[in-house]
Amino acid sequence: MLLYNSLSRTREEFTPIEPGKVKMYTCGPTVYHFAHIGNLRTYIMEDVLEKTFRYLGYDVTRVMNITDVGHLASDADTGEDKMLKGARRENKSVMEIAQFYTDAFFTDCTKLNIKRPDIVEPATNCIDEYIEIVSTLIEKGSAYLAGGNVYFDTSTLKQYYVFNDHNEEDLAVGVREGVEEDTNKRNKNDFVLWFTKSKFEDQALKWDSPWGVGYPGWHIECSGISLKHLGGSLDLHAGGIDNAFPHHTNEIAQSESYLGHKWCNYWFHVHHLNTDTGKMSKSKGEFLTVSLLESKGYDPMAYRFFCLQSHYRRNLVFSWENLDNAVAAYNKLIARIAALKSEGEVDADALAALKAGFTEALENDLNTSLAVTAVYDVLKAKTNDATKLAALADFDAVLSLNLISAAEALRQKQAEAKAEAQAEAGDPEILAAIAARAAAKKERNFAEADRIRDELAARGIILIDSREGTTYRIEA
Ligand code: AMP
Ligand code: ZN
Repeated sequence: MLLYNSLSRTREEFTPIEPGKVKMYTCGPTVYHFAHIGNLRTYIMEDVLEKTFRYLGYDVTRVMNITDVGHLASDADTGEDKMLKGARRENKSVMEIAQFYTDAFFTDCTKLNIKRPDIVEPATNCIDEYIEIVSTLIEKGSAYLAGGNVYFDTSTLKQYYVFNDHNEEDLAVGVREGVEEDTNKRNKNDFVLWFTKSKFEDQALKWDSPWGVGYPGWHIECSGISLKHLGGSLDLHAGGIDNAFPHHTNEIAQSESYLGHKWCNYWFHVHHLNTDTGKMSKSKGEFLTVSLLESKGYDPMAYRFFCLQSHYRRNLVFSWENLDNAVAAYNKLIARIAALKSEGEVDADALAALKAGFTEALENDLNTSLAVTAVYDVLKAKTNDATKLAALADFDAVLSLNLISAAEALRQKQAEAKAEAQAEAGDPEILAAIAARAAAKKERNFAEADRIRDELAARGIILIDSREGTTYRIEA
């Protein structure tokens, strides 16, 4: 499989450390608010990546953190803890907020058919792991204590900007306009591993450490959780593109300094969902959630379809018009699948050919838009419906668009609508009998007219004659 690696900035052949196995880590949500549909774009594409690995036969172990402490308002270690901000906004405790938004996150994931990672670990569960890593980093001379906090010393690295396709000015987070400079830092890009001093004395969650009572920095959480569950070598690490710097850059710095060797081979970054005013973001306050889409009548599957139609390494522009187009395309697709009949035998050769096209799209740097095209190729293929349905069911193991179940639900809805329309207009067979009786009466053939009425009555169908004509009721 060819996959773009942010480390080499090229598409590389994916080769796992252990043949047949993939160790995968993905940055999880900061649970101080609902996930917005931009965050969920990232999780949808990571889900497709995981399912692609499984489709290709790999045994995948995927770990995800839940950030419930330490992620400050600015990624550059300044500002208030986002969790504290959420708790204050809602007049609840930090742990209540964490539980509520963690549950809300997984509810959204379920609606979008995003599989739960094998291991989900809240950051507050692994304090001992962070302390161990930070202690080792201090011993090795990679970290220092200043002003009560422990900082990572970026000057000890051969190369800090590992994803250096950024421009230098963007990288200098510590000196960005509006961001206060932390005078404890020896180098502008040094970052906090452990806080004991913070301007915000009401920091809710604190733990004992060799450096005083405090709390971990955001970056150390992902290193600690990954090392705990996946060991010292990782195949692939994923996240949104905004996480590449400083978050992932700092994760690499601290993990590799701690381990003394390369940590992770492939870095997978999903580009942003933008609105016409720029990146959709939680901190801007205005953002769209899955529940909001549902309240406007949108099926979450249509949003997943919308995401799959574009490549993960391109920004995706959200507009209601674009979403409406995706809804129309998705509904039309499901209607076409609903029209297939599950008759005939599956043609193994035709199925293999269809699967080859689909696999080729995914192996081409996870080209989901071509994978969606492969779905249309199935519908156009010169093969029987049973083969088409088998191919669609197979593809849906990766796409998770409910291709088969939504089509089945539509078929059922169509059958119910037909029955309902019939019930309203009347049963055609009974209506024909009523017409025959009226014709017999007209010809003064009353014996035939009575015979028809009695025959219907024997079946519990009672005729009601009035000036307007004859109707019927069915006896219980
Ligand atoms: P957070 O909950 O803020 O830590 O973010 C969760 C994930 O969503 C991270 O992987 C972010 O990189 C990603 N993310 C944030 N904003 C967007 C966006 N507008 N589009 C796509 N992914 C995003
Ligand atoms: Zn992370």
